[in-house]
Amino acid sequence: MKGNIQIHSQNIMPVIKKWLYSDKDIFLREMISNAADAISKYQKLAALGQAPREVTPRIVVRTDKEARTLSIEDNGIGMTGEEVQKYITQVAFSGAEDFLAKYKDAGKDGIIGHFGLGFYSAYMVSDTVEIDTLSFEEGSKPVHWVSDGNEEYEMTDGTRAARGTLITLHIAEGEDEFLQEYKIRELLKKYCAFMPYEIYLNPKDEAPAEGKEGEAPEAPKPVNNTSPLYLRDPKTVTDEEYVTFYRDTFHDFAKPLFWIHLNVDYPFNLKGILYFPKQSEKLDVQGEVKLYCNQVFIADNIKEVIPEFLMLLKGVIDCPDIPLNVSRSFLQNDREVKKISRHITKKVADKLNELFKEDREKYAGFFGDISPFVKFGCMKDSDFYDKVKDILLFKDLNGKWQTLAEFKAEQAAVNPPKEIPAEEGDKEEGAEKHYEPQKLFYVTDENLQSSYIRQFKDNGLNAVYLNQFIDVHFISFLEYVEPSVKFLRIDAETPDCLKAENLVANPNEIIELFKQNIEDKEAEVNMEALKDASVFATFTRSEFSRRFAEMNKLYGMGVTAPGMKEESVLTLNGANPLIAKLTSLPAEKLPTVCGTIYDLAVMANKPMTGDQLQAFLKRAGELLNAYAG
Ligand code: ADP
Repeated sequence: MKGNIQIHSQNIMPVIKKWLYSDKDIFLREMISNAADAISKYQKLAALGQAPREVTPRIVVRTDKEARTLSIEDNGIGMTGEEVQKYITQVAFSGAEDFLAKYKDAGKDGIIGHFGLGFYSAYMVSDTVEIDTLSFEEGSKPVHWVSDGNEEYEMTDGTRAARGTLITLHIAEGEDEFLQEYKIRELLKKYCAFMPYEIYLNPKDEAPAEGKEGEAPEAPKPVNNTSPLYLRDPKTVTDEEYVTFYRDTFHDFAKPLFWIHLNVDYPFNLKGILYFPKQSEKLDVQGEVKLYCNQVFIADNIKEVIPEFLMLLKGVIDCPDIPLNVSRSFLQNDREVKKISRHITKKVADKLNELFKEDREKYAGFFGDISPFVKFGCMKDSDFYDKVKDILLFKDLNGKWQTLAEFKAEQAAVNPPKEIPAEEGDKEEGAEKHYEPQKLFYVTDENLQSSYIRQFKDNGLNAVYLNQFIDVHFISFLEYVEPSVKFLRIDAETPDCLKAENLVANPNEIIELFKQNIEDKEAEVNMEALKDASVFATFTRSEFSRRFAEMNKLYGMGVTAPGMKEESVLTLNGANPLIAKLTSLPAEKLPTVCGTIYDLAVMANKPMTGDQLQAFLKRAGELLNAYAG
């Protein structure tokens, strides 16, 4: 259906107020951006020789509580009366018409902003706005414009003597915070910290700043840094400068581990620095990636532009190609934005590869600190995983950092993957052999699992530490993308190479006897012989059931019954002399002997419960008394 939407300019204000900007504060960013644009236009003309090159470009912001005004003054290009008509009155109002038309089609989530309405954002906090401007063009007359933002405005001859524009906002009732110097300073620090022209807030003595000869009292300081480090050529920046910039920008005094200076001209413009802070295991360090557009702050942590996993980093990204005032749903679907995001990811992966190749030892030195972030990135972004999968490191029992390929090769020599027997009829000569996934063992707690670790080491087996918060998920992820491996916690099962010949002729009899003499009536008990004959018994718990229970716990879905009753299996060591002769012991000794064997196995596996500990202490007391006679 076609039709004409009747739009009146008085419709603008409610629209602006409601939809255009969700955040009032950004009006100041809009005003300052306009001032900076006006200055850069003038600078360009001056560079072309079409205007005199003179005083330093500057923007001055003033608050006046008495007059209830906030003003922004620039010495940019200025506007003639015609230009005010054209750029402020007509364009803005027709911009609003465009906006309303598109907004009607696009619905709530449609594109907002980018319709040349920046100036009108002033009305989010003001009743009336005045413009006093003088164009750079020779012979132009100063103009005074005033409007309350509805359909009427008034334009008269002005009195402004200096080239440039002064915008005066008459702050509305209830918006008094915008008359507070500290509030305005905070906003300027947030949005304009890296603006390319000096910005002064309520400068005390303006005379010297205007360039008077003679004595020079303390010069006022701009609130911004007009040439932020990220704009510089990376080759010219020292480590110390990177660290200082990091401290000044993020107020974080911990030294970042390393950083990536992004400096792209093609196929889009992108500059910035990403810092890798030391990560805590829990991933609770909040990252902060600030997005700028031509040195104007847009927002923190825009996940549409910066891949989610990079949000754990701290950094600044300046991307002039990103439209300033658009909604997030727009960014999400923008192809340019996707390209940028992919590019940033690639750069991060490249840098990690470069560090790995250049100095593996150093890389290994901080890998533990960055691994939560890298693992998170692998799970979130398959491109990233592909680029870093060969440089993911795992710390082994000897403290060495190995890649997965290295660890696999090392373990295949001692504990090779089992061959899957071919089905009858499939047994052709030279047919390809099939193997079960290779079992790789890991440790989550060096102390609790020390008995298992000792046995591993004694038999030339190795395991890796996977004890970070993220590892529960990462292990499953790795098994999914690398189906040739299966990760098992070191207490999940006993690898074949730790096993020995069973000495016991009557295992079932011993198992039965043992069960009758322990308190845990539900315990599942079996027998297998270990190379290490000194071990009486070991608990194992299937990887699958343990992981399942851990996931449940993580997601708060109620833990399975406490203790390890259902899933854990107690394996008596058939190579242990005491186990072998259990049936020949006097019956009255059996509860203490079997009970203690049980206690020792628990202790080697996990912390005891209170009841278990009490029972153990009682038995240990009895043993001590008997021993001492
Ligand atoms: P946009 O900046 O998106 O074009 P605005 O509503 O913010 O939209 O401004 C409209 C136009 O008014 C600008 O493009 C510029 O031509 C003019 N303008 C606004 N502020 C100034 C200023 N301080 N000095 C000179 N021209 C200005």
